[in-house]
Amino acid sequence: MISPKMQNAYNEQIKEELFSAYLYMSMSAYFESLNLKGFAKWMSTQAQEEFTHAMKFYNHILERGGKVEFQAIDKPKAEWNSPLNAFEEAYQHEQHITGCINKLAALAKDENDLPSHTMLHWFIDEQVEEEASTGEVAEKLKMIGDHPQGLFMMDSFMGKRE
Ligand code: MG
Repeated sequence: MISPKMQNAYNEQIKEELFSAYLYMSMSAYFESLNLKGFAKWMSTQAQEEFTHAMKFYNHILERGGKVEFQAIDKPKAEWNSPLNAFEEAYQHEQHITGCINKLAALAKDENDLPSHTMLHWFIDEQVEEEASTGEVAEKLKMIGDHPQGLFMMDSFMGKRE
């Protein structure tokens, strides 16, 4: 059985992960509007991953006899100044999510919740990857600067994401 504290914290995290999916789909639409199909695909794949993150928490709550209760999801932004601006925000957002996961891990420790430790380990590793991948794209976009050729090459690279 999951503790009410842990259950509520996971319900909050489901909202965070679904908001991430919402934000990245909004970024995907923004990239579509710029005709950057590769970046758009990268973002929609990322959004799908975020949905699977939400489902991991959803399944964990239910498996342990808890109650899933969805929270309201905020409206994401719909416009960015540039591809770089969007990726800088994605990177910042992932840092925020890492903070959320760290808080969950601290709570699981307080509650001596061992099944949570195992599950959250996966998320701790995942966040290292998420920060690295969004940060790397932001850095590359910084290097590309105002060169459309570089941006188009990067777009075709981004579109190769599985
Ligand atoms: Mg996530």
